Amino acid sequence: MQSNWWKSQRDARFNPDWERTRKRILERDHHMCQWPVTDWNSGTAHICGRLGNEVDHKQRAGEGEPDNDDPSNLWTLCSWHHKQKTSRESGEARRLLGERRRRERWYSHPAFQ
Ligand SMILES: [Zn+2]
Repeated sequence: MQSNWWKSQRDARFNPDWERTRKRILERDHHMCQWPVTDWNSGTAHICGRLGNEVDHKQRAGEGEPDNDDPSNLWTLCSWHHKQKTSRESGEARRLLGERRRRERWYSHPAFQ
């Protein structure tokens, strides 16, 4: 219940200025993906640098908290790296959901009714 409320709040976005913030970040990063990549040959780290159109939160907020829309927590990602990051995060969300499901099943056991 609680987490559904939280989810719909997040979809609606906390920050009404998000579009403007997003634009500013894209401009700051010159529409280049900021994902750190290590060159396996030389061992040097650089950014992905591909054309990026997606602004991502480096650190996602905890449950029930608004995302931190401070520019220091925002960066531009290309769709490839954004997808990679999102799928990792949703994997984590699925794991938490699975835990809750197991708990709910436990409480719906006939012994509790
Ligand atoms: Zn990238």
